[in-house]
Amino acid sequence: MTSRTMVAGNWKMNTTPTQGKALAEDIIAAAGTPPTKVVFGVPAIQLMSIKEITAQHEGYFVAAQNMHHKDNGAYTGELSAAMLADAGVDYVILGHSERREYFGENDSLVNIKINKALNAGLLPIYCCGEKLDIREAGNHEMIVGKQIEQALFSLDPAQMEKVVIAYEPVWAIGTGVTASPEQAQEMHSFIRQMVANQFGDTIANSTTILYGGSVKPDNAEELFGMEDVDGGLVGGASLSVENFVPIIKAR
Ligand code: PEP
Repeated sequence: MTSRTMVAGNWKMNTTPTQGKALAEDIIAAAGTPPTKVVFGVPAIQLMSIKEITAQHEGYFVAAQNMHHKDNGAYTGELSAAMLADAGVDYVILGHSERREYFGENDSLVNIKINKALNAGLLPIYCCGEKLDIREAGNHEMIVGKQIEQALFSLDPAQMEKVVIAYEPVWAIGTGVTASPEQAQEMHSFIRQMVANQFGDTIANSTTILYGGSVKPDNAEELFGMEDVDGGLVGGASLSVENFVPIIKAR
């Protein structure tokens, strides 16, 4: 690949429904029809109200930040894939490092979630990435390779075509430290090659691989300019018009 195909914001546990509605409306008003897909990853309580807004604007979509792996049952507080799909949700972020760190998620669980999401008609945004000690020991490709293998290799090609991958080095998330464009490119190219080995070149070349980890207006252009970086998954900077709109527009 490639060209830039998506900028996704991950609002995490930020914004009340009132604030979120204003944020989405203000971003859309300021950015207009975006050059590529824009996804708002919003708190669960806002999924339907933000979908009502994005449905009226070409190029804008809504994502859940998580989903349970069971179809239904006694799982107090959880949401199923069918519930999200029926609510009109387009994407679901799965395997985010905060889910792994604080909620004990691993790639075999995430693999089940990806299957459930796809079966319900949701498009998964699968997050992978290494911790700092792994990078410092030079084992980042091995670890990310294992994550990709465990989470994605059991899919069939028709399923894989629908998956967005987000490479998010854990040491760069919310820290203000960004991977250099070269570090991002190196890993994205490695991931694309893994996808090619398992699913073939056509699918690998059309897979969207986002970079995430302290993307800001002043580094987005450089990162998105790398050959295998197809856009970004953006946390902190997705929470203001001032920061997110220039990232949407970065070429
Ligand atoms: C994220 O949470 O996915 C993320 C990339 O956060 P930040 O942009 O704040 O580093």
